[in-house]
Amino acid sequence: MADHYLHLTSTAPGRFLTRRLGLPQPQRLRRWTLENPTLVGPLLHLTAGESAISDMLSAILAKIGPQATEQTGHPAGIVLDATGITTATGLGKVHAALHPVVRSLAAGGRVVVFGTPPSPDDHHQAAAQQALEGFVRSLGKEIGKGATAQLLRIPPGAAASAESTLRFLLSPRSAYISGQVIELTDAAPDPVADWAAPLSGRTALVTGAARGIGASVASVLARDGATVICLDVPRAEEELARTAARLGATALPLDVTAPDAADLIAAAAPEGLDILVHNAGITRDRRLANMPAERWASVIEVNLDSVLRTTDALLKAGAVNRGGRIVATASIAGIAGNNGQTNYAASKAGIIGLVRSLAPHAAADHGVTVNAVAPGFIETKMTAAVPLLIREAGRRMNSLSQGGLPVDVAETTAWFAQPASSAVNGQIVRVCGQSLLGA
Ligand code: NAD
Repeated sequence: MADHYLHLTSTAPGRFLTRRLGLPQPQRLRRWTLENPTLVGPLLHLTAGESAISDMLSAILAKIGPQATEQTGHPAGIVLDATGITTATGLGKVHAALHPVVRSLAAGGRVVVFGTPPSPDDHHQAAAQQALEGFVRSLGKEIGKGATAQLLRIPPGAAASAESTLRFLLSPRSAYISGQVIELTDAAPDPVADWAAPLSGRTALVTGAARGIGASVASVLARDGATVICLDVPRAEEELARTAARLGATALPLDVTAPDAADLIAAAAPEGLDILVHNAGITRDRRLANMPAERWASVIEVNLDSVLRTTDALLKAGAVNRGGRIVATASIAGIAGNNGQTNYAASKAGIIGLVRSLAPHAAADHGVTVNAVAPGFIETKMTAAVPLLIREAGRRMNSLSQGGLPVDVAETTAWFAQPASSAVNGQIVRVCGQSLLGA
């Protein structure tokens, strides 16, 4: 369903009129294309206070794009290293560093603030580092022009593990992500031979891949070099076959709730899976008072229970290779709740619980990471069915004043899936344009 308002505000008269009326001004986002693979413009590298990672950060940024340490024209990205801020008064250095330059950020630009995890033993350090979260979330809301702001926390000494995440955040691939806090572990990144095809040699399986977000995930993983297996329900077999054929992927018609689903998935990837994306999901909305038990049960079964069962069975059978990546699909409904969606929101909040709990164990026992995307309003058949007024509210009630596209979720999944993303584990990343719901 086309976003006519976004189209209107892309025209001069439309922009004039909507500005006069004080209406939202969405900026058309620049997403990744072959012709548009990187941000355009220098990356401004700033430091607030003492930093132990300055050289490492410089070395990574030098690989990503043209770097500047002083303001020159309109930077495409501003990276502020605030890892050395350990006191409340030290926060003044964050203001001093960004205040003079933030206005010059290019349209569609990126701000990435580096911090460290708040300490459980030093409440002054914890206060200062936690303060960065409120700072970044507010900056994301006020920065405008399609620009975004994130906080990236790295443990001391682990800056080298940030490369895949910085490459993602400082690129058009993260266009619809803002106001996020991402905390890395100190796991060493697996090497990447070719950043243009980081998933080559990897086998990926995506559930619910016949259409919508799942088809886009399959497409982006294939673009990044993975061999892809697309799974969807047998009744969607024709659409599934078309999607798989278009991507040079294999089709696996299978209901994820089937008792033998894990066995059939393992059999479809005899060399083991490197990437497992649990994307299949359904809604069966009703207010709780009107919700029959079947509607409750089917949503929990597809969205949560089948994910738990197949994940457990595949890990236990050793069917996910070491260095593997599991990506589950939550939703902002699982964070904010939603009228008429007690079943759906419960299932998606359950995914968040699963990811947080399993991630450290999966890494320690199997060398596998577990993360989740939490999409906000994404333009798909699911959201096209939402009544017009609620759909318009969903589109506008975020810092970027527009809905996301399936590819935004897919790009996030591809970043989680990268070999170099070993340190990205147990994260729930919202792909929602910084939705005001659950903010
Ligand atoms: P969609 O309805 O367009 O696609 C879902 C796919 O999953 C369909 O192809 C469907 O056949 C498949 N599927 C459903 N049950 C299955 C089962 N039992 N076994 C195998 N396949 C099954 O939905 P979408 O919008 O692309 O959503 C994809 C995921 O993203 C879902 O988990 C959804 O909850 C989540 N999500 C979507 C949005 C959004 O705005 N579209 C927002 C938040 C979360």
